[in-house]
Amino acid sequence: METDRSAKLEFAVQMTCDSCVNAVRSALEHQPGVQAVQVDLQTEQVLVEASLTAQEVQKVIESTGRRAVLKGIGSGQQDLGCAVAMLSGCGLVQGVVRFLQMSPERCLIDGTIDGLAPGAHGLHVHHLGDLTQDCMSCGDHYNPHGKPHGAPQDTERHAGDLGNIMAGPDGRASFRLEDTQLKVWDVIGRSLVVDAGEDDLGKGGHPLSKTTGNSGERLACGIIARSASLFQNTKKICACDGVTIWEERDRPIAGKGRQKNPEQPSANL
Ligand code: ZN
Repeated sequence: METDRSAKLEFAVQMTCDSCVNAVRSALEHQPGVQAVQVDLQTEQVLVEASLTAQEVQKVIESTGRRAVLKGIGSGQQDLGCAVAMLSGCGLVQGVVRFLQMSPERCLIDGTIDGLAPGAHGLHVHHLGDLTQDCMSCGDHYNPHGKPHGAPQDTERHAGDLGNIMAGPDGRASFRLEDTQLKVWDVIGRSLVVDAGEDDLGKGGHPLSKTTGNSGERLACGIIARSASLFQNTKKICACDGVTIWEERDRPIAGKGRQKNPEQPSANL
């Protein structure tokens, strides 16, 4: 059992009878990487403890012919907070990325981004949660310790350096990262940006390698907003679904990004 690496994922699944419950349960229990499954017919809720991406678990549930909507994500052990970023840009790129603090040391980053060119794309937490000029006003990579740009496994790196995600031939990148330098409480109010090109992880020898990894233009970005944890409010996990996040961004309470100049009113918010 690798329960310390697993997250709890809650899905809303349309289920009308006991045979639906059995179909969903059986599909999940046969899936490697799934540690525990709870299915509740009355609330149409499926709780899965797994070391898979939320996208992978959703696919397994949907393989039984039912639609599944991810309602929330929580940690198996402790409740240290979670956050979500809805990514969008000028083009077709969009995605949802969740941050979950699994322990004081480990932050889980689970996401799906669509509309990318197949291949590697740099992914970084940026200093500011300011989208007034779209992704151009997000500032530099989040770098509280004044380090050079690097790879996720490097000690010498920007805290915001998450390396590359890989998009498949369908343009979708689905990923599950664990990071020891980023903390959920440090990234709330900042932004997450996905780039057009591959991050050279500071080793490309390009003039931009040590600052951005030379990963090209910013394709899509989103403010990292606080979201309700699975265990703070098990009845109504509204802040984790897509709809409410947009409301959070429109009515910035937890969703308002960190601005360079707090006196200056932001045009978008
Ligand atoms: Zn960097």
